[in-house]
Amino acid sequence: MKIIMLGAPGAGKGTQAKQIAAKYSIPHISTGDIFRANIKNGTELGKKAKEYMDQGALVPDELTCDLVVDRIAQDDCKNGFILDGFPRTIPQAEALDVALTKRGESMDYAIDVDVPDQNIVDRMGGRRACLNCGATYHVVFNPTKVEEKCDNCGSDTVLRDDDKPETVQKRLKVYHDQTQPLIDYYKNKNILKTVDGTQPMDKVFTDIVALLGE
Ligand code: ADP
Ligand code: ADP
Ligand code: ZN
Repeated sequence: MKIIMLGAPGAGKGTQAKQIAAKYSIPHISTGDIFRANIKNGTELGKKAKEYMDQGALVPDELTCDLVVDRIAQDDCKNGFILDGFPRTIPQAEALDVALTKRGESMDYAIDVDVPDQNIVDRMGGRRACLNCGATYHVVFNPTKVEEKCDNCGSDTVLRDDDKPETVQKRLKVYHDQTQPLIDYYKNKNILKTVDGTQPMDKVFTDIVALLGE
């Protein structure tokens, strides 16, 4: 099963993608996580990506598309995968289609986690991330057991720099300008599914499982 998670920053893509990946035993591929891992490890890609991420801008397609195309060619993706945070632009979606078409494949589902901008601002302000293992929490909706310590690995959880209110507004604008057009792109391919992302996490998950119908 090959799935794309669409939705604004903070809509809950990552939260849902991790659970779907576990349920269907497919890899969870998050471009944001890949960039953050590169930043942490001080790679050239990380240095370049950071400049854009700190501004709330998108990392250029040239740095993003090949990375994902290479990743989905790996062995563990042969029974499917779930893309979280990619594609984010029409050229990225087209690059993905070209790569899959070459293999005689295509995406099965694009799931739009629909959340209005007002809720997004609350979610991002309360999001806490573990920069060690990538786990995500929310101070109100999904708190850690011990304050500011990751449940998985015990590292400190932090407010991401790009989750500060000024940057969130920029990211929302970028989302509406560059990413939202993908909703029509996948509607036209007849693979778009929409879920109400304002519901509690568990309900969003059961809705997604129901619409995947597998
Ligand atoms: P969120 O989960 O809040 O939407 P991500 O972790 O997916 O955030 O992304 C964080 C940042 O990483 C983005 O604001 C952007 O700068 C960069 N990024 C992630 N995925 C992409 C992509 N597919 N194209 C361009 N930039 C990306
Ligand atoms: P995205 O990957 O789309 O940027 P996340 O999965 O990181 O979004 O979720 C953003 C924040 O909102 C996190 O703090 C997460 O714990 C919280 N969250 C996710 N889904 C829900 C939900 N259905 N209700 C309330 N909070 C949620
Ligand atoms: Zn952790």
